[in-house]
Amino acid sequence: MTALEVLHTYWGYDAFRPMQEEIIRQALDGRDVLAILPTGGGKSICFQVPCLMREGIALVVTPLIALMKDQVQNLMDRGIRAIAVHAGMNRHEVDLALNNAAYGDYKFLYLSPERLQTRLFQSYLEVLNVSYIVVDEAHCISQWGYDFRPSYLEIGKLRERVDAPVIALTATATPLVADDIMDRLKFPEKNLLRSGFERPNLSYIVRKTQDKVGQIRSICEGVPGSGIVYVRSRARTQEMAESLKAAGISASYYHAGLGAQTRADRQKDWKENRTRVMVCTNAFGMGIDKPDVRFVVHADVPDSPEAYFQEAGRAGRDGKPSYAVLLWNGTDTARLKQLEEVSFPSLESMEELYQKLHIFFQIPYDEGEGRMLKWDIKEFCRHYHLQQAPTYYAVKYMEREGHWVLSEDMDIPTRIKIDVDRQALYNVDLPDPAMPQVLETLMRLYTGIFSYPVPIDEEAVASRCGVGVPVLRQLLYQLSVNHVVRYIPADHATVLFLQHNRLRPGNVQLSPQRYQRLRATFSERVKAMVEYVEGEECRSQYLLRYFGQEESAPCGQCDVCRGAAPRPKDLPAKLKAWISARETYTLKQIRSAFGTADNAYLEVLRELIDRGEVPPYTE
Ligand code: ADP
Ligand code: MG
Repeated sequence: MTALEVLHTYWGYDAFRPMQEEIIRQALDGRDVLAILPTGGGKSICFQVPCLMREGIALVVTPLIALMKDQVQNLMDRGIRAIAVHAGMNRHEVDLALNNAAYGDYKFLYLSPERLQTRLFQSYLEVLNVSYIVVDEAHCISQWGYDFRPSYLEIGKLRERVDAPVIALTATATPLVADDIMDRLKFPEKNLLRSGFERPNLSYIVRKTQDKVGQIRSICEGVPGSGIVYVRSRARTQEMAESLKAAGISASYYHAGLGAQTRADRQKDWKENRTRVMVCTNAFGMGIDKPDVRFVVHADVPDSPEAYFQEAGRAGRDGKPSYAVLLWNGTDTARLKQLEEVSFPSLESMEELYQKLHIFFQIPYDEGEGRMLKWDIKEFCRHYHLQQAPTYYAVKYMEREGHWVLSEDMDIPTRIKIDVDRQALYNVDLPDPAMPQVLETLMRLYTGIFSYPVPIDEEAVASRCGVGVPVLRQLLYQLSVNHVVRYIPADHATVLFLQHNRLRPGNVQLSPQRYQRLRATFSERVKAMVEYVEGEECRSQYLLRYFGQEESAPCGQCDVCRGAAPRPKDLPAKLKAWISARETYTLKQIRSAFGTADNAYLEVLRELIDRGEVPPYTE
């Protein structure tokens, strides 16, 4: 079969999109290739087609478990054999999956990067017949990128053991980051293929406003169809959704602090158009392929053009006219300007924090590797009288250095350890007749349950015992009260996975050069974002240039191109002069003097009144 026939057979599509064919051709030639295509540009096809055309199994590294499950399901639905190995699986499940991958005629093995270094995976490497190493979201390997994950560095080591070409894909890479990706992945020669990042159906609008809620409401009322509203804080998602609902707009909210089921339900309702507008933090949207999103509004300015472009790009995937609106005011730019300071605590303070954190969890020197710590930042900061923001960023920074992995808002499964030994178990007096069966089921399903708390699948256990999950939980609780088991109920928490044994104070040694360079690239990204909102250049051209595309035409439809440009610079002065020439004035008078299509004067007037520079109008 040719590549086109494969595309047609498995996906039913008639043609490749720009660049897809070229990327596939190079991969089939056995060259390493880095593909940069915008979100929704069809990156999956770029590696799935060549992998199907070659013998063996492709290793696909991708960072998010949820996306991994989606992709595997998607392939299976098309009759393609694919399997996943991720952090949420126990050793037995991983072993089974890898065994299948090695001997079961699979075409794709999806892996989370943390799995690469495990001994179990390494032991299977010998027998896996690897066709390609695929690196999705490849920007995660670059320390200069905005979403670095240390475990991605393991992919470089994988290359030393596996002789297969690399297909790396990302939607967000500046020229600097692209070069770094190819270095880290040990490309023998640079080979970068990118498609244009133009989104001809997307209008970028930037609006300076003191009344963000009002603006959002009028966008929701003025633009029909599905929308996303991004806000910075979790609390604001709920507030904003409620104020939209109060205005009769169908809205819901989403953030990572909600339970897994609630998140899944809300996402589904939105995707299937039972909810029109989703107000959310940036936890929402990754991997959601909803084609008919008509607007994406940012109520707060994101920290980087990478994040903005990715989130805004979720509008209009179906090619129909759509809007990406960014609302801002002086508070946003002031916050961004302080962000660098907060995000980069001093090296000394971070080295100190490293020790405090181990002391807090009572971990002695030279111990701790592999420990999973439930980390409550509030409690930790209270204990040491620390401020939360710099503490959080220090932990994030040390994560980049590979000391630990911070997983925020993990859904932790229920864990059980049987505290009575196997023999004694038969002599224990159990108060409920259903209990022996629960214990037997647990013993059968989970080896190791006598030695440490093992994660259990409550649904599986409940159904084998012929009870519902709530009843199972009740039984487990009673067993724990009777000291038969240790019962750690399912939880939603932030977790630190320690990657090394605790180092002694002199050995932590964060590199000042790296610190300076990371800080500088961070600062550049933030500055670029401030420039985007304050600037008066075509929005599309500005973003494209940021991503390394020098040649592009003005888009003709952003706020700048449309000439609805923010507001005439001299409007405040003119308004002041006009008002100071009279004793009193009314809104009506001012409208007839300054009214325009977008009524920009209203906003300026409000600011002048707020700052006390002009007296309020009379009714
Ligand atoms: P990305 O990973 O680049 O964000 P995806 O691989 O998820 O994008 O693809 C986005 C959507 O585009 C998917 O629904 C996919 O099936 C579709 N798609 C990809 N390539 C083609 C094509 N050649 N023709 C039609 N649809 C395509
Ligand atoms: Mg993708």
